[in-house]
Amino acid sequence: MDSAPELLSFAAQVFEKYGGIAERDDNHVMALLPSGLARSLDLPEEVRLGEEAMPLIYGSPVLDRLIQLATEEIPLVFGRIEVPYLKKGGFEQLIRQDIVFTNGQARVTSRAEARASYMVLISRYVALSDERKEGLVEVGTHEGTGAIIEDFETLWPEFRPEFYVPGEVPPHFSVHLEKPISNAMRKARVLAEGKLTDFIKSMRRRLRRDAKNTREYYEALRKEMEASLSHHNLSEAQRDERIAKIKDLPREMARKIEDLQQKYKIQVRLRGCAALRFLVNVVHIMVEIRFRKQTRTIPLIWNPISRRLDPLVCERCYETIRSVHPREENSEIRLLCPSCAQKQ
Ligand SMILES: [Zn+2]
Repeated sequence: MDSAPELLSFAAQVFEKYGGIAERDDNHVMALLPSGLARSLDLPEEVRLGEEAMPLIYGSPVLDRLIQLATEEIPLVFGRIEVPYLKKGGFEQLIRQDIVFTNGQARVTSRAEARASYMVLISRYVALSDERKEGLVEVGTHEGTGAIIEDFETLWPEFRPEFYVPGEVPPHFSVHLEKPISNAMRKARVLAEGKLTDFIKSMRRRLRRDAKNTREYYEALRKEMEASLSHHNLSEAQRDERIAKIKDLPREMARKIEDLQQKYKIQVRLRGCAALRFLVNVVHIMVEIRFRKQTRTIPLIWNPISRRLDPLVCERCYETIRSVHPREENSEIRLLCPSCAQKQ
């Protein structure tokens, strides 16, 4: 069982970051760990990781503990939201109101109370240009589907959640967070761009202004230099030199404008910086969808925080949708967003 080289490098980095001394070899890492670090990783203080006695492979408990330690930096808070009321009926109407199945029929077949987990991801954006602008954006998602839940991030405090003490978090939270996190980051980018609209406009305005000034300056310079050609006391050589300089002006101006474009170029960095995860009592309704000759039953969630049905995600591109376009694929119904449905 050979240890993967990238895992050995990763382990060495984690050890060093938390105060250990690590030496990486071809097939192992030798490390001296501070006692606190050794305890939290359940390793001896003097450790030889990666060889047969203690291999470092994907899925191994040592690797899990290292990953947990390395990702602990994003503060994560877990809580539970109890709600006073769960809707009992009238879901048929909500299917037309909150979620629309175009060209398909949908019928509610059952209702059950359940728990669902939601995440509010808080991300920080930093825009760098001639000036700097930063801020936070928050996005709520359903952890199971990755659907973006509008307004969840502003509504949850009204419900006074009970927060779990670390170590006493129940096992009901989703383990697979790729979909909610990638959808939340995608949404966060859109929100950050929205918040940066004025900043982007102002940088563009300055670029236009400075570029205009530069063009005017070179235009004036050209006129002045051309006028000076008629001076009688210029030697032939001086004249030629001046003509060459005039010819070079457009190139010089283009260089100056290129510098301005660099100066006002906007770079935006976005990073998740904290997450809140909640267990919420919800209503699961089962809905039977008919499209052409096919039928399919799917669960929908009535969310007591937003007091609406949660949206779905497109089964091809994972975009959050309230307008669902059923399509037939290999005798099965696929639920798509308008643009994926159109591409088919
Ligand atoms: Zn789609």
